[in-house]
Amino acid sequence: MTRVPPRIDVDVDRCIGAAMCVRHAPAVFTQDEDGVVELLPHGAEQAGAPQVAEAAHACPVQAIQLH
Ligand code: SF4
Repeated sequence: MTRVPPRIDVDVDRCIGAAMCVRHAPAVFTQDEDGVVELLPHGAEQAGAPQVAEAAHACPVQAIQLH
């Protein structure tokens, strides 16, 4: 059986710039000049890290989805 790594989707339209994701997983998420979430270049490679699940859980508007 092949294990497919999780994928991170961020909904920039939903993001309100609360920065919880950056606080939980600063190696994965950052914010643009307007405070909107962005995935760092190598952030997707860490989709399976527990900090990413914590960040998704902490986001107040569920803008981070793991698949
Ligand atoms: S925690 Fe959610 S609302 Fe806050 S910056 Fe991250 S994605 Fe946006």
